[in-house]
Amino acid sequence: MFYLSTRDKAIKVLPSQAILNGIAADGGLNIPENFDELKFNPQELESMSNLEISERILGGFFTDFTKEEIKEVVKKAYVGKFPDNDIAPLSAVGDDFVMELYHGPTCAFKDVALSALPHLMIKAKEKNNVDETVLILTATSGDTGSAALTGFADVPGTKIIVFYPKTGISVIQERQMTTCKGKNVNVCAVEGNFDDAQRGVKQIFANAEKLREEMPGIVLSSANSINIGRLAPQIAYYFKAYKELMKNGTIKCGEPVNFTVPTGNFGDILAGYFAKKMGLPVGKLICASNQNDVLTEFFETGIYRSKRPFHITKSPSMDILVSSNLERLICMVAGHEKTKEYMKKLAETGEYKLTSQEHGTMLAEFDSGCANDEETLATIKSVYREHEYLMDTHTAVAWKVCQDWKQTQTDPGVNVILSTASPYKFAGSVIEALTGQKLEDTGFELMYKLHEMTGSAIPESLEAIKDMSPLHNDVTDKNEMQNYIIEKGRN
Ligand SMILES: *Cc1c(COP(=O)(O)O)cnc(C)c1O
Repeated sequence: MFYLSTRDKAIKVLPSQAILNGIAADGGLNIPENFDELKFNPQELESMSNLEISERILGGFFTDFTKEEIKEVVKKAYVGKFPDNDIAPLSAVGDDFVMELYHGPTCAFKDVALSALPHLMIKAKEKNNVDETVLILTATSGDTGSAALTGFADVPGTKIIVFYPKTGISVIQERQMTTCKGKNVNVCAVEGNFDDAQRGVKQIFANAEKLREEMPGIVLSSANSINIGRLAPQIAYYFKAYKELMKNGTIKCGEPVNFTVPTGNFGDILAGYFAKKMGLPVGKLICASNQNDVLTEFFETGIYRSKRPFHITKSPSMDILVSSNLERLICMVAGHEKTKEYMKKLAETGEYKLTSQEHGTMLAEFDSGCANDEETLATIKSVYREHEYLMDTHTAVAWKVCQDWKQTQTDPGVNVILSTASPYKFAGSVIEALTGQKLEDTGFELMYKLHEMTGSAIPESLEAIKDMSPLHNDVTDKNEMQNYIIEKGRN
């Protein structure tokens, strides 16, 4: 199978090349040529283990890997890193199900993909006889950074540089990154918000030729969810949830399940759409946003309008105005040529508008909604009070949007809400939700306080960084990111 650029179907690469390059040669994203070869009948799920589901999906997407290679990638990614090798335990909460994606090494859902990506990348390097060091460049709104650093730390033949916004991430998130060990890791704060950091990284990729000259022996790649090697592993948990719902008798094979996804860069929810294209009976995919509701507006109107105020919210991993992965959906709905045109418009004017037909096609698959901070905190409190279930702010956005959506349906069906972070990662906001007290973000003290209040367990990996001292303290201006990379890439 080949991957095509979302902006030009004549630009084709093999799966392993798509993983290595991160982004297509013309700045578009890599998208599977078609989904026919990827069909996965949900009936097969019943006899499959969790690891086998991941193997099946990665094997389908990465056809130039052998079965043994895929098996090894999955084993290295998940065995011993997730409790019971289960990347996504499902909890019944009220009438709905919460899929907990945060039991990996850094306590956010990005671990699922970023545990697999480094191993996919090493194999892809071998396959393409790439002797150069792969330099991973990543902009993070908080959770990607620590998951990527942890995934790539000391992986031979790779280096990683993570840029994070100086404003908008929590003390614990920052500490997770700045304490990351590994000879090949660099962490740098950018003066600005996440979009500034992400824009900087995108510009650097657009300028990759020049950098190649400056840094011989280095090839650039990305660990952001624009990399297909990050998107594909996430598809597995949609299938896995479906398997579990069949097993516990909630559904029969073939019945639809709706998923509500707390969304930022549109990677997680797009993985759900890919699952649907592969044949999983997904009903609606409900895109949940916080006060940065650019996607809610987009689904409601068909107009993507990125020029708007940027809000720093209590669900910071969703504070995004330009959702990169949306480009893949646009391509699937409107085709390559239109995608190129829309992305050009977006870059030049900050907005684009779908035709009413394209908009309609999208709405057959997706619904959307948003929740502001006040609603998010109220949701954490009410869910804890009614169900004794503790959730983080991102999950709460999705929970609230799902409940609102159910109100609009005559038959809301079976609903799964994706839970993307441990409540301990955002302890300050969770305590504020439960007590109304706004505490200063002191990081670890807040974790212990939340533990005292609720009796729930602090994830071991979070508690462990308490006694580690920061190893990284670099800061750069958003216009100086390229120079920082050249300096770090060279030595
Ligand atoms: C990254 C992240 C999201 C958003 O996921 P996307 O794939 O970017 O849409 C939501 N919640 C948490 C906790 C995250 O870390």
